[in-house]
Formats: sequence, structure tokens, C-alpha cells
Amino acid sequence: MKAVRFFGHKDVRVVNDLERPVPKGDEVLLKIGGAGVCHSDLHIIDEGTVVGTVFTLGHENAGWVEEIGENVKGYKKGDAVLVYGPWGCGHCKPCQQSKENYCDHQSEQAYGGGLGLDGGMAEYMLVPSSRLLVPIFDLDPIIAAPLTDAALTPYSAIKRSLPKLMADEFVVVIGVGGLGHVALQILREISGAAIIACDVTEDKLAFAKELGAEFTINSKDADAAEQIQKITGIKKAKVVLDFVGATSTIDLGTKVVSLDGDLTIVGLGGGHYQYSMNVLPFGVSMTNPYWGSRTELMEVVGLARQKKIHIEIEKHKLDDANEVYDRMRQGKIKGRAVLIP
Ligand code: NAD
Ligand code: ZN
Ligand code: ZN
Repeated sequence: MKAVRFFGHKDVRVVNDLERPVPKGDEVLLKIGGAGVCHSDLHIIDEGTVVGTVFTLGHENAGWVEEIGENVKGYKKGDAVLVYGPWGCGHCKPCQQSKENYCDHQSEQAYGGGLGLDGGMAEYMLVPSSRLLVPIFDLDPIIAAPLTDAALTPYSAIKRSLPKLMADEFVVVIGVGGLGHVALQILREISGAAIIACDVTEDKLAFAKELGAEFTINSKDADAAEQIQKITGIKKAKVVLDFVGATSTIDLGTKVVSLDGDLTIVGLGGGHYQYSMNVLPFGVSMTNPYWGSRTELMEVVGLARQKKIHIEIEKHKLDDANEVYDRMRQGKIKGRAVLIP
């Protein structure tokens, strides 16, 4: 079968001769409908965050059940499902609570399909357990694939700050890409806070306005923090969601977050921050959340089925993977690109 394989630093190739896996025991074989292209892939490809192993990329996956192992119950051929991405041990306390993104054993095992193990940028994908599937009912797997990360990750980050996102508060969203453009819609639907969106191009800022941002600021402007403070006034922003994670965006976040606020760094841009009592307002919680839980993914499916969020999608063939990654490097993708076998 055809697959987009990671061979090592800056070496991604489309192959045609990968053997189609056969599911055994708890395993499920999916026929892939779509695999989302996440910026984390670029951290793997360009920066070497996963080394020493060859695997199929794609950790935002959806498709139809093709074949099940002999122990699998409750699924049959043709069922439309999402693949929950962070694969934990399945037994520890966080895993039992469905928070496999914080599995006790994360440091000693590969994270999941597309992140060290074979992922979904292929015609078929082997999922180790039906526990990791979330049914999507009437949703189209091609459109739904990015729900597993581009929607789940911001949803989980927003949910933990929800009590602070009241109608008299401001929230700042930095980076209106795959994750950020869904974050804006989730904030619009489940919180009351006024949204200030930041990106570095005018078309991304116009896109943010369409998705519910009241204000937009170009974070390349040297006085971006002052522009934000002009909007928020002395209150400043109760919550800052940074979907870039560069030193400059973390720095911007520390300047605009309010006393007792949340500074949430989702982006893995390799930025540095040096704590200083004089820089960070008192009471600020700084967090670096990772992905979301399986039950939160079910809630995200609910938002999508109610048409409260929709992912802006570009469709591409597996053969075009390298061109799509190039466009992502240049910040040229609007919403999310999905590879369709
Ligand atoms: P993307 O490429 O789709 O979007 C990034 C956006 O940020 C683009 O719109 C770009 O123009 C904008 N941007 C770049 N520099 C900026 C700056 N200085 N100020 C404002 N905006 C800027 O990326 P994505 O797939 O949405 O991923 C975003 C980040 O989140 C990546 O670092 C990715 O690895 C990370 N991520 C983290 C998790 C997690 O669980 N923590 C999960 C998924 C992705
Ligand atoms: Zn991702
Ligand atoms: Zn576990």
C-alpha cells in the first residue's frame, strides 16, 4: 500500500510497497479517509524530535473500520471513527481516566501512530486497540480527521481555563493556524470572553475576524503588547493561548496576561522563558498542556456534529505530502491540510 514515511532528518518519502497490516487480538485495521497535517510533523521532520526510527507519518486520523482482531467487540466493517492520538499504556490511573495524553509511562514508550509508530498517512492504518477509536456517526472522516488534534488540543486547553473566560474578560489567541482557527470557534461557542487574535499576516487576521475574533493584532508589530493593552485596559487578558510557543510569543503573553490569569503555551516552537517575579504578574498559572483526553474528543465530536465548529480544510493527495509540508513551513495553509489516500 501507499504511505508517507519518515526516514530521518528532513527525509520524507512516499512509498508504494508497504505491506497492509492484518489485525490480531485487540487490534483494528482502518481504511483511512483522511490524515491531517499538523505542525508537530515539521518539528519531527526538521528538528528531529523523534529519532532512530522509520515510520508512517500522520497523527490526526479518521476512517472506516476495515477488519477487526478476534477480541474486538462493538465495531464492524464500515463504522466511521476517529483515532485518538496519544496512545498510553491503557492501565495506569491517567489512562483509566481517559487522559492517555498524560499516561504515567509516556517517557518509556512511543507516543502513538505518526509519532514514532505507523500513522495514518497511508491507505490503511493499524490501531492497537478499539479503546482508541471514537465513533463519528454521520460525520465524514475526511473532514473529521483534524478533530483529533487541531480541535481536541485547543478544546482541552480552553476547558481548563473556562471558569476564567467570563463575558467581562479578554482572551488572547496567538497563531491562527490549524489549532488556532479552531480555538477561536471553540471560544466563541463555549466562553463569553472577548477574543483578541494575533498572527503575522493580514490574511490570517482577516480569517480570525470571520471566525469570531473581536480584535486582531499583528504580533510582528514592535508595539503589539501595547496595542493589546489598549484594548484590554488595566484588566489585561485573563487568558492567553499561545499556539506558536516561540520566545517572542511567550514574551508577548507575559506582557498582556492579567493578575491571576492563565498563560497557556500549546505551541512547541522551542521558545525560552526565564521566570522573573518582576515580569510575570502575581497569581498567573503558566501551563504547557499536551493534547486532550478520549472523553474530551467525544465532546469535540459533539461540537462538530452540532455544527458549532468546522475545520477549514484543504484536500491533497498522499503524493503531495512534501509540497504540503513546504507550504506549512511558509505559513501558507488556511486552516488544516488533509491528505486523502
Ligand atoms: P500551523 O502551522 O497550522 O499554524 C501556526 C500559525 O502560527 C500560522 O498561522 C502562523 O502564521 C502563525 N505564527 C507563526 N509565527 C507567529 C508569531 N510570531 N505570532 C503569531 N502567529 C505566528 O500550526 P498548528 O498545526 O496549528 O500547530 C501550532 C503549534 O502547536 C505547533 O508548534 C505544533 O507543534 C503545536 N502543537 C502542540 C500540541 C500540544 O499538544 N501541545 C498539539 C498539536 C500541535
Ligand atoms: Zn499534532
Ligand atoms: Zn497509562
